Amino acid sequence: MRLCVKQNLTYLKKMINFHNTEIAFSGKTNQELKKSLRLFKMIGKPLLVKIGNPLLSFANLIHFPIGWIVKPTIFSHFCGGENIEECEKTIQMLASKNVGTILDYSAEGQDDEASFEHTKTQLLQIIQKAKENKDIPFSVFKTTGLARLALLEKVNAKEKLTENEIIEFENIKKRIHEISSLAHQFDVPIFIDAEETWIQNPIDEIALEMMRTYNKEKTIIYNTIQMYRHDRLDYLKEIIEIAEKENFHLGFKIVRGAYMEKERERALKQNYPSPIYENKEKTDQAYNESLSFCIEHIDRIAICAGTHNEESSAHLVNLLEKAKLPSNFHKVYFSQLLGMSDHISYNLSALNYNVVKYVPFGPIKSVLPYLIRRAEENTSIAGQTGRELMLLKTEIKRRKDL
Ligand SMILES: Cc1cc2nc3c(=O)[nH]c(=O)nc-3n(C[C@H](O)[C@H](O)[C@H](O)COP(=O)(O)OP(=O)(O)OC[C@H]3O[C@@H](n4cnc5c(N)ncnc54)[C@H](O)[C@@H]3O)c2cc1C
Repeated sequence: MRLCVKQNLTYLKKMINFHNTEIAFSGKTNQELKKSLRLFKMIGKPLLVKIGNPLLSFANLIHFPIGWIVKPTIFSHFCGGENIEECEKTIQMLASKNVGTILDYSAEGQDDEASFEHTKTQLLQIIQKAKENKDIPFSVFKTTGLARLALLEKVNAKEKLTENEIIEFENIKKRIHEISSLAHQFDVPIFIDAEETWIQNPIDEIALEMMRTYNKEKTIIYNTIQMYRHDRLDYLKEIIEIAEKENFHLGFKIVRGAYMEKERERALKQNYPSPIYENKEKTDQAYNESLSFCIEHIDRIAICAGTHNEESSAHLVNLLEKAKLPSNFHKVYFSQLLGMSDHISYNLSALNYNVVKYVPFGPIKSVLPYLIRRAEENTSIAGQTGRELMLLKTEIKRRKDL
């Protein structure tokens, strides 16, 4: 069975050819290509990232100006701008390649009510902007941008809340209702990002409450499932039973999961079984299985495959074809992050698949943790950076040889 799937994927990869660099980099000038090459070469050096990241964090902490070094380099590669207006150029550039934008307000590490209210206001503005712009088909939020982490952790652990905490938790739900209600009113679907397991239960419960309320006619609210968790296939099956019984629509962004090391470390330290599959193969298999399951239930579920994995993207293409669904079927999207895996995004969009890019934005100071994660994630030459470098070099050579 596995062999058969593998053969299909090989066949499809030939058909799609994610490695067509002419299409993949058609949005970049020669100068921009060389700039990306320099950046990936730089963040591909583990020692530089190891020293550079804490230095940047420290400089940020003591309010040392870092904008002049960060903005023209790593920020301009991975982010749309410091505010919504600055993202306009990126939105237009992506739209010219048939790729949509998801404006991702990336302020992290906030922990007070005033910041949560500020994030909520930003989200309402993004939804308003998306309503007026067909090139922004979704919006997104992280619950920790709207809620105190320690409180989510307490709710997750089913600890007794104080009276004030009960009010605080109700306020979080009110904020999320306000955002979801506007998304519903303006017909702008919204993703709720997935986070660490020790805060994910309340996020799932709120997401389910929003889906019950706002997904009556179609999918507006999408939760995210992380397929590196070995309980998520069962969760998916459980949720579909609820949705069928109560007759509402489901939406899922499907990802592998971003917090593997943290999850494993905590499980080891606190002596409970790790919630993550023991190896990558099992995560990959579960990821592809979840896509198959969702396509089997496509009358009830809308999905977005948030992945930079070529095989999983090809698997979804294969599933659409097998189900005889058109490439731009409105319930199936592919998504990658700005500045990463353009070869997947643009080669899919050139074949009329629905593709959206996460475009993070925000003040440099607040976006820095996101950028540091991107640098760390891309630091292995064997992984993503190796692939990006190889593709960039191929395209530079192809253009030279013309
Ligand atoms: C558009 C988009 C939205 C995203 N939203 C979220 C979100 O809301 N929440 C979130 O947590 N992440 C999110 N991510 C990140 C995502 O979860 C992955 O970390 C990232 O995309 C890398 O996985 P991949 O599918 O692209 O491909 P790959 O590079 O093939 O897979 C890498 C992933 O596989 C898993 N893995 C690696 N080694 C092992 C191992 N030894 N054992 C078990 N599993 C392993 C890990 O999840 C790792 O991140 C998002 C990614 C994208 C592109």
